[in-house]
Amino acid sequence: MNPQIILKQGREKSVLQRHPWIFSGAIQNVNGNPGSGDTVDVISSSGQWLCYAAFSPISQIRARVWSWVKDDRVDEKFLERRINQSIKLRRDLELNKKTDAIRLVHGESDGLPGLIMDQYGEIVVIQSLSAGVDKWKKVITNITCKATGAATIYERSDVDVRKLEGLSEESGLLAGQHPAGEITINENNIRCLVDVQKGQKTGFYLDQRDNRLLSGRMAHGRTVLNCFSYSGGFSLHAIAGGAESVLSIDSSSEAMAMAKRNLELNDLPSNRAEWMEEDVFQALRGLRDRGRSYDMIILDPPKFAPTAAHVAKAARAYKDINLLAFKLLKPGGLLFTFSCSGGINSDLFQKIVAGAALDANVDARIVQWMNQSADHPVLLSFPEGYYLKGLVCEVN
Ligand code: SAH
Repeated sequence: MNPQIILKQGREKSVLQRHPWIFSGAIQNVNGNPGSGDTVDVISSSGQWLCYAAFSPISQIRARVWSWVKDDRVDEKFLERRINQSIKLRRDLELNKKTDAIRLVHGESDGLPGLIMDQYGEIVVIQSLSAGVDKWKKVITNITCKATGAATIYERSDVDVRKLEGLSEESGLLAGQHPAGEITINENNIRCLVDVQKGQKTGFYLDQRDNRLLSGRMAHGRTVLNCFSYSGGFSLHAIAGGAESVLSIDSSSEAMAMAKRNLELNDLPSNRAEWMEEDVFQALRGLRDRGRSYDMIILDPPKFAPTAAHVAKAARAYKDINLLAFKLLKPGGLLFTFSCSGGINSDLFQKIVAGAALDANVDARIVQWMNQSADHPVLLSFPEGYYLKGLVCEVN
């Protein structure tokens, strides 16, 4: 029999609505001394069985739900079914016709809380963000080898948020051959280097795939400013799409160096690319002071508000860069502006951008709403899974 979590009276509501997180404050009692990542039964105060979940003794999110089906058993077969279902969804989406870099598993939204799995050609990168996934890591690795046939399974669980789960940062080879340096992926006919060992996140920002494509289509003949450019994804698409010039700004020297190599890799004209290794907040002020202006500006900052607690400060930071960007746009210019903060929902983001336009004294209209790509699905009962939102705004 599994250890049990007994909820406080009334706290079964969100579980019945199939939200996959059980917070420590909702728990009345823990029976049976479960260890980190162990499967527990979750029971309401009136004794009703609710779900199976993975226990995390230190985290505020004390348990993450594996299944709401009593007949399920959380074992190798269960995980294999879930992983295969996730991979099948990506096949059905036919993403492989556009790219060989795909998110295979997107955590809670794929019924695998805390598990991220990204495929880059022959390499699959696994990131574990929860005690439950850590517990089953070996099993998950074996299933992934079988399901993907990948030559390399590599771990990139070297992220801060693991501290909240009481887990240490880990990275390294899980199975197969050690990755031999950078690999080249293809995204909508643009080639890009990915370093799964040292790159940011698991190596690449797959969630922006569709938006990079859109920016490329709208860049023709424009002067472009790409802020927070990382390895140059948006810049490459813009130049390939016929942009007159692209200035890329990022504070990471490694990212900037890789972006330059990516330009060469695609045989794109280097005289249309400019690079600036600088803090974007400062760089935008500098460009404003020098009277520069652009036909298209992309703002893809890192997560300013990882949780609801950071919202007020993050909102100011988003407003600051959007205001500066509006001021730097020429009449008829386009702003591609994004937020990947879970704590900032799309309504709030739109309000922040509207406030920035107002303070910049420009009239702007939304031409298109942008989202995370389809290999980052959102479980209906877990709206937190919808984290990347963006707007294309045209100024008068
Ligand atoms: N648009 C990119 C992903 C951007 S990720 C793509 O399509 O791949 C965010 C980037 O912002 C990272 O490369 C990080 O190095 C950079 N960054 C974070 N804070 C910054 C700052 N204050 N100024 C400049 N760059 C910053």
